Amino acid sequence: MEDRWDATASQLADEVAECVYCTRLIGADPSLVLHGGGNSSVKTTWHDITGREIPALRVKGSGWDMASIEAAGLTPLPIDRLHELLALDRLSDADMMRELAAARLDPAAPSPSVETLLHAFLPHRAVQHSHADAIVGITNTPGGADAVAEIYGDRVVVVPYVMPGFDLARLVQEVWADQAHDDTIGMVLLNHGLFTFGDDSATAYRRHVELITAAEQWLERHAPPDATATPPALPEVLVEDLAELRRLMSEAAGAPLVVRRHTDEVVRRFVSRPDLGDLSQRGPLTPDHVIRTKRVPMVGRSAADLASYAASYRDYVEAHRARAREDITPLDGAPRVVLDPELGMLSAGRTAKDAQIAADIYHHTMPVLARAEDHLGGYAALPAGDIFDVEYWELEQAKLRLGGSLPEMAGMVGLVTGAASGIGRACAAALLGRGAAVAGLDRSPDVAEAFGGPAWVGIPVDVTDAPAQRDAVRAAVERFGGIDVAVVSAGVFGPSRPIADLDPEQLRVALGLRTDDLLTEDD
Ligand code: ZN
Repeated sequence: MEDRWDATASQLADEVAECVYCTRLIGADPSLVLHGGGNSSVKTTWHDITGREIPALRVKGSGWDMASIEAAGLTPLPIDRLHELLALDRLSDADMMRELAAARLDPAAPSPSVETLLHAFLPHRAVQHSHADAIVGITNTPGGADAVAEIYGDRVVVVPYVMPGFDLARLVQEVWADQAHDDTIGMVLLNHGLFTFGDDSATAYRRHVELITAAEQWLERHAPPDATATPPALPEVLVEDLAELRRLMSEAAGAPLVVRRHTDEVVRRFVSRPDLGDLSQRGPLTPDHVIRTKRVPMVGRSAADLASYAASYRDYVEAHRARAREDITPLDGAPRVVLDPELGMLSAGRTAKDAQIAADIYHHTMPVLARAEDHLGGYAALPAGDIFDVEYWELEQAKLRLGGSLPEMAGMVGLVTGAASGIGRACAAALLGRGAAVAGLDRSPDVAEAFGGPAWVGIPVDVTDAPAQRDAVRAAVERFGGIDVAVVSAGVFGPSRPIADLDPEQLRVALGLRTDDLLTEDD
């Protein structure tokens, strides 16, 4: 693991600033945490408005990414209250989250992490937690717990998998009493991730570097990454086939999906595996990925493959729905990741950002699966029931019942020509503003940077050049899955004059017509 600590950071103002800094160092490394995974905390003193000094936990709040967190993203809570909650025999996660929200020392602070009580329990001032690829790569195997013992000896506490929340906090208390001692510097949660801690965040961060590096070195020795020749390129796929598959996936989702194609080397290596249909169906690296990727990807590309995927998703929900504490609302049966030896990987989501997140997670998943399968006795994910518990967690279901507030054109794809300036640019902005993903075409190279974010792709192309235009449309479909709305706004206008005086050649250029468009054989 790369040590990102910068000596100039040693003048951090206080322990909260130091926690923010270390949290960002971990968040900046996608092999440690992806898109909202992981969290951190520091125990400190809160000064309230009447001058009282309250022992407080500052813990990462929801809605903040570790990579970009600020002090405002570390929710302050009174430690005493957290210990009172920890002493309860049982507490539903919904009640726990309500009590935590009520206990905030600043009502404007975000809802604190579901792992807050665990942070409060750990008897160290600073705590850093990640879902490192190396840890889930080792612990999702039959010999995972033994490997952890071999790598770390008794320097870490090892906790079997339990879903994050009150039950995990309680389990950690028991395991801690059995295993912890003065030289304990970390805690491995099997199938989940790593906690490190210390008197200050710098120490917790350094121990993270040390423990992850040890895991990576063990992996290098026991499971060298696949270094065989570059996998061959994928065959060209008809854009119509991609668009049709997106249409069917959207139908299965009950709403339009953005579907992005990925054909990089990591993808090609994985989809060319003869055991693709088996290995890919065992489950995610860690259960919190399920919200983004579903439990398993779809393998294949046909309407029949999709129908059978949706049917087996319904079976999975029915098989496990009795585990939920309340009646559940089933999620849609459309895949969020599709793997096919010819297509490569498709990632899907209700927004371009969601499709990107699913792809980022699966890009990390594929090499971990391959290493475990090829060198570590086989990849073994948690049972489907544990994944279901997270997918249908009462808090996630409550969010669903409140109803999503996606913009009106979420999931739709616009193609806009002449998108770098004027009316075209305004149309692209209007579509993006309504939640659509937009592919903008323009002769000007400025189009690439006309807008930012995952919902935009700007493609420099002369729309009067038919082959180049076809390539641009293909690129748009590979990026977003299809085209729902087309705005034809590119135009070249000569000087203004009465129609009768127009030069026919100039008119033809203005309308974007080429000679061979006008003189076809039918003429
Ligand atoms: Zn976690």
